[in-house]
Amino acid sequence: METLTSPVTALRGVGPQKARALEKLGIRTLGDLLRFYPRTYDDRRETKKIGELIPGESVCVSAMIASAPTLAHIRKGMDLVKVRAVDETGVLDLTFFNQSWLKTSLQVGQTYLFYGKAEGTLLRKSMASPIVEQEGLGERTGRIVPVYPLTAGLSQLFLSRIIRLALDVCGDAVPELLPADIRRENALCSAAYAVENIHFPEGDEALALARRRLAFEELFLFALGLAGLRSRRSADRVAPFRDVDMAPFYGALPFSLTGAQRRCIEEALSDMRAGIPMNRLCQGDVGSGKTMVAAACVYFAAKNGRQAALMAPTEILARQHYETLAPLLEPLGLRCALLTGSTGAKAKRETGAALAEGSIDLAIGTHALITGSVSFRDLGLVVTDEQHRFGVAQRAALAEKGLHPHTLVMSATPIPRTLALILYGDLDVSLIDELPPGRQPVETFAVPGSYRPRIYAFLRKHIAQGRQAYIVCPMVESGEEVSDDAKAVKEYARQLQEEIFPNLRVAFAHGKMKPKEKEAVMAAFAAGETDILVSTTVIEVGVDVPNAAVMVVENAERFGLSQLHQLRGRVGRGRHRSYCILISDNRNEEARQRLKILTKTNDGFRLAEEDLRLRGPGDFFGVRQHGLPGLRVADLGCDAQLLQSAQKSAERLLSQDPELSRSLALRARVAELFARNAETLN
Ligand code: ADP
Ligand code: MG
Repeated sequence: METLTSPVTALRGVGPQKARALEKLGIRTLGDLLRFYPRTYDDRRETKKIGELIPGESVCVSAMIASAPTLAHIRKGMDLVKVRAVDETGVLDLTFFNQSWLKTSLQVGQTYLFYGKAEGTLLRKSMASPIVEQEGLGERTGRIVPVYPLTAGLSQLFLSRIIRLALDVCGDAVPELLPADIRRENALCSAAYAVENIHFPEGDEALALARRRLAFEELFLFALGLAGLRSRRSADRVAPFRDVDMAPFYGALPFSLTGAQRRCIEEALSDMRAGIPMNRLCQGDVGSGKTMVAAACVYFAAKNGRQAALMAPTEILARQHYETLAPLLEPLGLRCALLTGSTGAKAKRETGAALAEGSIDLAIGTHALITGSVSFRDLGLVVTDEQHRFGVAQRAALAEKGLHPHTLVMSATPIPRTLALILYGDLDVSLIDELPPGRQPVETFAVPGSYRPRIYAFLRKHIAQGRQAYIVCPMVESGEEVSDDAKAVKEYARQLQEEIFPNLRVAFAHGKMKPKEKEAVMAAFAAGETDILVSTTVIEVGVDVPNAAVMVVENAERFGLSQLHQLRGRVGRGRHRSYCILISDNRNEEARQRLKILTKTNDGFRLAEEDLRLRGPGDFFGVRQHGLPGLRVADLGCDAQLLQSAQKSAERLLSQDPELSRSLALRARVAELFARNAETLN
């Protein structure tokens, strides 16, 4: 008797060759096969009369064979079967290539279902190689038909046949992982019904039910797994930080913090007092003042006698942090050091020694901070800025230098909370949902390319007033090659310099430059030595040039709204009125509407929600690379509601049965999913 763990070769028609092809799709067992869900569906329920066929459309026809099929060998190795079918409205000529068996199997006078693309003229209709089935059999005709992702050596027909077979032999054995009460409360169908109908839906409603149930299950398993990670973390005990008088820190700031900044700081400090390692994401729109949240945490750690490390994704950002934080924290008695790739060997040695003996409280740097040679005497806190540029492995490497340091990650990618939960796994989230007072919104315009002369004049005017400008060109993705955006940027900069702005200083930066070169260009711009910086999105993250007041984005329609918002955050950081001009020649109404939204709101979270709605989650930083475990049906964009229900159910189940000892199959499945994805999630 076959079971879910039987190899696919147990099925009739699956030999070693097919098994190898299936393996490429990750399918080894019958269970894998049942979990190999369709990519989409073809609705072939409607059957038409021959007289109604429109050439070009793919459709089902029920028709009777009217003449004996003829078989011709048209070329070496090529057979052609021709036959005529009729119904009461007309005649349909059918041709089949290399299916010579049809000559004998198609019976004159019998009615069959044909599915294919109608061809010919309105008067003389035909179909080439349609799918043929006997009436009432209906696997590939007359119903909603699954469409699977394929690989070489496998066809839709083959896959749907063997999946049908697998369903017949062990569809009923699909384990019901969801506890009955959870199924009842969420109105979820049974596992067996869901698996049957995700492959071969009886109708729209059955498909929707199946989809919903399977999506819920995925999200539920995911929530259980994350909760497991969280509780494993809270099992790590560390000595709680003492409470510290923060008044000197607050008193040293040139401004008073916003309510949101204070709240985030409070949340982080209370984490650190709790005796388990903090693992918090501080999420705030560009310019919301995350650096001060980090500074407060560093102060708190230092006053507890512990060292802190702050990592930035680029050298220039690290230097900027150093230049902001050292003058603030050193008068408060904290010793700060900058350690980057370009720190000289001697300084590096000295700083290294000082870190090891504990005479430095805060080390600010890039990846250099986590290269093997640096060691800390007592690392108590790690802050990473713009965390999506840091891999999990890098964070882990730094964490290993101390005994379970508290970690705070700061991100300006404003993603909806539900998605954050998925993306950042087991992190607790603090939101800075308020900008410092008096911030002027960046005035944003969406214009066609014909406005360029006016835009150039606008740039000239502002540069004459002492401001600087960014011009951003998107990456040109042409098929495989993420090709010559470097060349495009260079060429555009040259053209601007020579033909448009001969009297201004134009520089360029792109991702293919050596980091050193790139940082030099950015540093020159930050120092006001160039007027216009033409670049790809390399300037996207965090660089602070308060004097830059204009940003022009070429081919703006190629960016997501969130990304444009991030880019826009590079201007409007000083006291100057700032502008963002989005150039797009795209006439598509939807694309235009999308850019229009940016001209109307400066709210990064609203834009993120909008992005999620319009483009789905794939466009968010990191989602694609993340490889979320087992989300095959659930769509993070559309299933936010379902995610919430699944989380609630998971939490409740765990509160009743923390070890899942009453749901062993469930526990095993979660373990299996998370073992496979431990790398991406730890
Ligand atoms: P983020 O890293 O969140 O993008 P920053 O920490 O770089 O933002 O802060 C942006 C700017 O706002 C900085 O110049 C900072 O000094 C300033 N700032 C931060 N908090 C406040 C505040 N509460 N009031 C006034 N200005 C602030
Ligand atoms: Mg920042």
